Amino acid sequence: MATSPVSAVADPALIDRPRPGPHRLIPVTVAARTLLAPRLVRLRLTAPEFAEYTLSGPDEYFGLLMPAPGQDFTPFPLAAGANIRAAVSALPADRRPELRWYTVRNLDRDAAAIDVDIVTHGDDGPGSHWALRARPGDRAGVYTCSGIWSRPVRDQLLVADATAVPALRSILEFTAAHHPGAMTDLHAVVLAASPEQLEPGLDEWADRIGSLAVHYAPDDAQADLARSLLGDHRRSGHPAAQAGCTWTCGEAGLAKAARSLAVGDWAVPVDRAGWATYWIIGRARP
Ligand SMILES: Cc1cc2nc3c(=O)[nH]c(=O)nc-3n(C[C@H](O)[C@H](O)[C@H](O)COP(=O)(O)OP(=O)(O)OC[C@H]3O[C@@H](n4cnc5c(N)ncnc54)[C@H](O)[C@@H]3O)c2cc1C
Repeated sequence: MATSPVSAVADPALIDRPRPGPHRLIPVTVAARTLLAPRLVRLRLTAPEFAEYTLSGPDEYFGLLMPAPGQDFTPFPLAAGANIRAAVSALPADRRPELRWYTVRNLDRDAAAIDVDIVTHGDDGPGSHWALRARPGDRAGVYTCSGIWSRPVRDQLLVADATAVPALRSILEFTAAHHPGAMTDLHAVVLAASPEQLEPGLDEWADRIGSLAVHYAPDDAQADLARSLLGDHRRSGHPAAQAGCTWTCGEAGLAKAARSLAVGDWAVPVDRAGWATYWIIGRARP
């Protein structure tokens, strides 16, 4: 599905990182729930606003406002420029939603919907707890944000854990749609705890991009594994480790390790080393 229509992206060139636009709070309804893999839930969220929505980039993220257990989501006014975390904290406890961050996996304007793919990890955390129970008809909120990825140069290394694979796949789909000639300059390294966290079919990209490596390791071993894999790549002259631009997203240790290697050891300029901490081992990431 990806972005439909493909033209629903503000700037298909994306030489520079997307600038945050005006944020909006959109009340949404869960329209469908699909188990893509044992630990990956896809939720389709609908709202009339999505019929005309434009993405800032393929990895656009948003704040998902989820009702606390036993509550329904109640839309609330949000002043222009307001801090969403502060606005949520100021709400009365009996209608204060939980807030976590996710990626727009698909935008479907015809259906006035977005899809979000959520890696579940049990009930330890409001995001996973809600995703495991959300059903069609449930209500929530989407606080719109912007993307992180850009393409200042063609040759890129993308490093993702399971939570960042939805964004990675959107980046690959976007590049295939808008810049097919640049596909072979993309190199992706994926580290996941198990195939149970991944949408099937990732391997199909292996023949379409420069290289794709998928490795399975426990969460707390992924940062060291990434250092070791990328170090080997660098020593062997693998093109993934010669990239002029990197995007590293996922668990804090992994995202930082891969970025530090690129910036510190390979001299990738900091403004070409986009990254984000998606979650933190042993700690909530509100
Ligand atoms: C920009 C951005 C985009 C994101 N996009 C996506 C996306 O598309 N799909 C997606 O699944 N996630 C995505 N994430 C990550 C998602 O926001 C976190 O996984 C989220 O914080 C988990 O919330 P939680 O309430 O379940 O757990 P938290 O309250 O954050 O944490 C509670 C406990 O659970 C542990 N925990 C949290 N996540 C995991 C995990 N994945 N595996 C094992 N243990 C975990 C923590 O270490 C902590 O001990 C994104 C994050 C950011 C910042």
